[in-house]
Amino acid sequence: MGDIKLTDDQRSRRSEIEEARLKVSQASSEVNRLISKCEHVIVSVGWYGGTKCLICKAIDLGWYCPDSPDHLCDYDWDVDDEGFENEGGELCKHCGSPEERK
Ligand SMILES: [Zn+2]
Ligand SMILES: [Zn+2]
Repeated sequence: MGDIKLTDDQRSRRSEIEEARLKVSQASSEVNRLISKCEHVIVSVGWYGGTKCLICKAIDLGWYCPDSPDHLCDYDWDVDDEGFENEGGELCKHCGSPEERK
């Protein structure tokens, strides 16, 4: 900031913006919290077997599975520390569809 002095007016505008920013980040972590607790109701979207939750509207949570109780194909994936999925099976435990389906 150096030696530049803000006027009172500028300062109050600055804190208005800071407050609004804080609200945005609180609201967005609230959204994430709610989505992480969502008991997804999965429906199939599109021709490619994509998925969407009717409650939180999250999309592409996995492949749509006709046989799995939560309607998502389950490949026993683990996610490592860096967020990569690994050690998954090739076939869904429920419907037997392969993971590669493009
Ligand atoms: Zn959901
Ligand atoms: Zn499946």
